[in-house]
Amino acid sequence: MIVILLGPPGAGKGTQAARIMARYGLVHLSTGEMLRAAVAAGTEVGRKARKFMDAGKLVTDEIVIDIIADRIEADDCRNGFLLDGFPRTVGQAEALDKLLKNKNLKLDVVIEMEVDDDSLVDRITGRHTCAVCNQSYHDTHLKPQNAGVCDSCGSTNFNRRSDDNHETVISRLATYHAQTAPLLPYYSKHGVLRTVNGMADIDDVAVQINDVLSVL
Ligand code: ADP
Ligand code: AMP
Repeated sequence: MIVILLGPPGAGKGTQAARIMARYGLVHLSTGEMLRAAVAAGTEVGRKARKFMDAGKLVTDEIVIDIIADRIEADDCRNGFLLDGFPRTVGQAEALDKLLKNKNLKLDVVIEMEVDDDSLVDRITGRHTCAVCNQSYHDTHLKPQNAGVCDSCGSTNFNRRSDDNHETVISRLATYHAQTAPLLPYYSKHGVLRTVNGMADIDDVAVQINDVLSVL
């Protein structure tokens, strides 16, 4: 199964991806995570990407298309994958169509997660993750059961992304509306778009997504 989670930054794509992976055994491919790893490793791609990421802009299509083209060749993608944060432009969507066609693969569904901009700012500025196991939390919506202690691994260290600040979030949302929202009519025309209400609580969104995936 090949699935795209499409939605603005903070819509809950990563949160739901973790659940879908666990339930359907799909590999989670997040271009944002791959780019952050490249930045942390100081690779050439990381150096090129960093200035765009810090400014809340998109890195070039060429960079992310190359990353995804390489990644989906790996063995663990054989049984399907879940794309999160890719594609983000019509050019990326067209490149993905070609990549899949060359491999005789079919995109099963694009799940749009709809969330109001005001909630997105709150979600992103409150987001933090466990520094050890990467479990995601929120200052008010998803706190660890014991304050300051990760539920999954017991670590007391947490990270906040450098681009999860108010100013960059505003820029990332503007980028989403200008460059990524045009993918909605693109995938609607292809007959693969399904929309879920991302304003609902995390468990409810998971149920809505499961309703879509379980009938594929
Ligand atoms: P994305 O991957 O789309 O950028 P995340 O999954 O990282 O978004 O979610 C952003 C923040 O919002 C996280 O702190 C997460 O805990 C929180 N969050 C995710 N889904 C919901 C929801 N349905 N309601 C409230 N908060 C949510
Ligand atoms: P994310 O983790 O999905 O919020 O992405 C973090 C940042 O990485 C974005 O603000 C972009 O700068 C960059 N990025 C991630 N995925 C893409 C993509 N598909 N195209 C262009 N830039 C991307």
